[in-house]
Amino acid sequence: MADLVLFNANVMTMDSSCPTAQLIAIQDNRIIAVGKDDDLREFQRRNTKTIECRGKTVLPGFIDAHCHLHALAESRVTLNLEPHHNVRSISDVQTKIKASSQQLPSGAWIRGRGYNEFYLAEKRHPNRWDLDQVTSAHPIKLTHRTGHAHVLNSLALKMVGISNETPDPPDGLIDRDVKTGEPTGVLYRMGDYLSSKIPPLENHQLDQGIRIANDELLSMGITSIQDASSHNGIDQWKMFRRWKDTGFLNPRVAMMLGSESFSVYRKEDFETQTDKSQLRLSGVKIILDETTGHLSPGLAELNEMVLKIHRSGFQACLHAVEENTVETACSAIEYALRKLPKSDHRHRIEHCSVCSPPLAKKLAALGIIVVTQPSFIYYSGDRYLRTVPAEELKHLYPIRTLLESGVKVAASSDCPIAPENPLMGVYAASSRMTETGEAVLSEEKITPEEALRMYGENAARATFEEHLKGSISPGKLADLVVINGDPTKLPFNEIKEIKVEMTILDGEIVWERR
Ligand SMILES: [Zn+2]
Repeated sequence: MADLVLFNANVMTMDSSCPTAQLIAIQDNRIIAVGKDDDLREFQRRNTKTIECRGKTVLPGFIDAHCHLHALAESRVTLNLEPHHNVRSISDVQTKIKASSQQLPSGAWIRGRGYNEFYLAEKRHPNRWDLDQVTSAHPIKLTHRTGHAHVLNSLALKMVGISNETPDPPDGLIDRDVKTGEPTGVLYRMGDYLSSKIPPLENHQLDQGIRIANDELLSMGITSIQDASSHNGIDQWKMFRRWKDTGFLNPRVAMMLGSESFSVYRKEDFETQTDKSQLRLSGVKIILDETTGHLSPGLAELNEMVLKIHRSGFQACLHAVEENTVETACSAIEYALRKLPKSDHRHRIEHCSVCSPPLAKKLAALGIIVVTQPSFIYYSGDRYLRTVPAEELKHLYPIRTLLESGVKVAASSDCPIAPENPLMGVYAASSRMTETGEAVLSEEKITPEEALRMYGENAARATFEEHLKGSISPGKLADLVVINGDPTKLPFNEIKEIKVEMTILDGEIVWERR
């Protein structure tokens, strides 16, 4: 007996023991059977709800293996300065801020995000003087599309205590005018410092943002997310819990802990009386960075951090972009495994943007999971083709190479850095096309089915949840997405036009196209 039956569907189960089906039967929040339309009568009782899918494709709900939900929520209630929102010059930035300043009382913070200097006519970051021209009555904070740089106006700089005399913090950089030494307002890798000085958005504003973000995620068929924010700790956990309890957030959340919070981690603060299928901890995030010229954290420190995480039974999730940092991440995991061998550790490298074939083999041999962002190829590919040095470009997001080397690759959006849409990721991974139709390493194409698996089973593996998610199989959670085209049958270009029709989570319809 089933509570819900979907039939007349093109079911891509992503389960090799039974790859296709027409019918899915669900009881409570679990899939109880997958079969043919003829089976309908067997499951249908008086109270069974049925959905006639009219031949539409049904897939396991998408899993976004790396995103930043708090930033996504915040971004939906702050000024959007992305190029796609008609921000193509610094004067466009100024116009948007001007409009905002006219609606806010003086003294109120103006926050904007998503600007991308590559797409600004001036090809540079806005600076304090550009912002001062608009208003001196409001402190302004702009966040770069990557989240790793910010721009403040003079009032904001004063309020957070940055002046000519302020030295650069250990891992950050205060950009300065070469002649006068005066801070230009552009700050690199100082997000944590700024968060400690600038009042956060109020809860009711964030709640509004999370409701918008939730609707977007569901409208793209995303039923699970893995939050990779490096400042995650007990406060973020409580916020996720509140969002789950109030019903503002539907997708299941696996939250990584930031490495600082991990050092003060106490088990009893987390997961007690929490439904782990809805909200759980997964891994510890460490950012490996060399933008300030030296590797941070240093290798010895990193080795001990990873070993500590490894010993505690957590997954280490190492943010590494350049080949050098990927190699370092790799050797830190190797170090931990030498000290304490463990076969199924599932340590992860987040991004792994540049990776040569020998390095891919090494990752595979060590059992490291790579969490990639295929849609960057579409959204940022044109910039990569023009700015990434040739040596690195030839190994950029080498997804085919990684898969052929035996690496388990999970996919993600890194939203709000890129839009959440997994189907855009499937398109980008299988076409390698940029937004303007240029190819980025065609030889690294994978099939749409392989790409779908990266948003399904492989992403589930990345949090040890493949027994619950990632395929449409009896016993698994009833998280499904109904879409209006079959990505494995359509011409490539049409994959990115596929729309989600319905999203089912825990056996309930949580979103439907109207
Ligand atoms: Zn990220």
